[in-house]
Amino acid sequence: MIPAIRGTHDILPGEIERWQQAEQVVRDVCERYGYREIRTPVIEREELFAKGTGETTDIVQKEMYAFEDKGGERVTLRPEATPSMVRAFVEHALEQHLPTVKIFSLGPMFRYERPQKGRYRQFHQLDVEAFGVADAALDAEVVEMAAALVAALGIDDAEVVVNSVGCAECRPAFGRALVTALGDREVDLCVDCRRRAAVNPLRIFDCKVPSCQPIVDALPHATDYLCDACRSHFEATTGLLEALEVAFRVSHRLVRGLDYYSRTTFEILGGRLGAQNALLGGGRYDGLVRQLGGPDRAGIGFAAGMERLVLAMPDGPGPRAPDAFIVALGHAAREPAHLLARDLRRAELAALIDYGDRSMKAQMRRANRTGARHVLILGEDELAHGSVTVKHMASGAETLVRRDDVVRRLTGDPVPIPPEPAAASRLPVPKTAV
Ligand code: AMP
Repeated sequence: MIPAIRGTHDILPGEIERWQQAEQVVRDVCERYGYREIRTPVIEREELFAKGTGETTDIVQKEMYAFEDKGGERVTLRPEATPSMVRAFVEHALEQHLPTVKIFSLGPMFRYERPQKGRYRQFHQLDVEAFGVADAALDAEVVEMAAALVAALGIDDAEVVVNSVGCAECRPAFGRALVTALGDREVDLCVDCRRRAAVNPLRIFDCKVPSCQPIVDALPHATDYLCDACRSHFEATTGLLEALEVAFRVSHRLVRGLDYYSRTTFEILGGRLGAQNALLGGGRYDGLVRQLGGPDRAGIGFAAGMERLVLAMPDGPGPRAPDAFIVALGHAAREPAHLLARDLRRAELAALIDYGDRSMKAQMRRANRTGARHVLILGEDELAHGSVTVKHMASGAETLVRRDDVVRRLTGDPVPIPPEPAAASRLPVPKTAV
């Protein structure tokens, strides 16, 4: 056996239904807020993330699946979506085609992290991005949308956390304040943090090493160093969030592990998730589009971990039970049975059938295991009379139904199903038990 690569996982039948349900909710919510779907490649130039995500971030320094391809180009599996979304925004001049550029994407990301519950090396994200709007009203709308998404998934124990990390104007002063505040405690920090203090002090807030925590907790707050414009932006954002009745907490440690954020940062934490409890995170990145070679446009967005959303969701309905399982008895019944299966499927019913000439008992056992609502039996007698025995599994009731009436019997539809598949698929087919 060749097992899956560490940190990757299969999503199997039984589990996939929760994913499909989550993806459906995601699409509905995105549509309600005006976001259109895009899909970008999972492989990009390494440079895109070095420049976009940031050279000093853990992602770029330690976690990328980067390599040289056969043409000698440095490429990487994407560790996050935002730089790709920005690239696509610039490359296709999306603002010329969409009234407001609001886009979302669903797909796998790759980070060479230490796997644990809720943390994988291949994981899936929903990524939501909006370009060209600097107004704090959008910050509030994006946070409210993220909270609405979590609520729509039935997750009722989530907590919204917001902060502001300032802008290129005021952040340097905050960085200096951090270094000053560290003073002679810098030597007590872990190796990573000492490096961070030298190149990008803000990144110290990302540290998870226990011995660093008391030192990090005592550091100054970014919100105390905001310039006037950033302060009023933050006040406008939090003010509107209150008006929108979004419950939130301001966390001074929330700087997020990526370099491009400016002003608003936020996360939503899930109560039941354990150590890896961030369901989603994001913020504003007003300088990033220009930094990646585009026009000077504002940007804001968030990424949600699909594995974590699916884990935090309450149990939904299970997989759809097949409408019918067809039991064919004897060789002569095989073709008519397959034809019946085809007709049921054309009428949008889920129909299963057994393969190979197996005994009635073996076929009934399989039908039971599938949870089918009806078993349709085609034997010698039925064939001779042009009929089918329809067994309603819940009640055990058996009825002999004319072959031509079986589909209508199962759909409960008084209107004959037109023979043409295209026409049939346009008809709403109500489903009732026989
Ligand atoms: P980030 O792109 O680091 O801001 O992460 C955004 C969201 O993606 C997080 O809040 C998590 O829900 C999810 N996430 C990030 N890294 C992983 C991972 N290694 N495994 C699973 N989910 C992750």
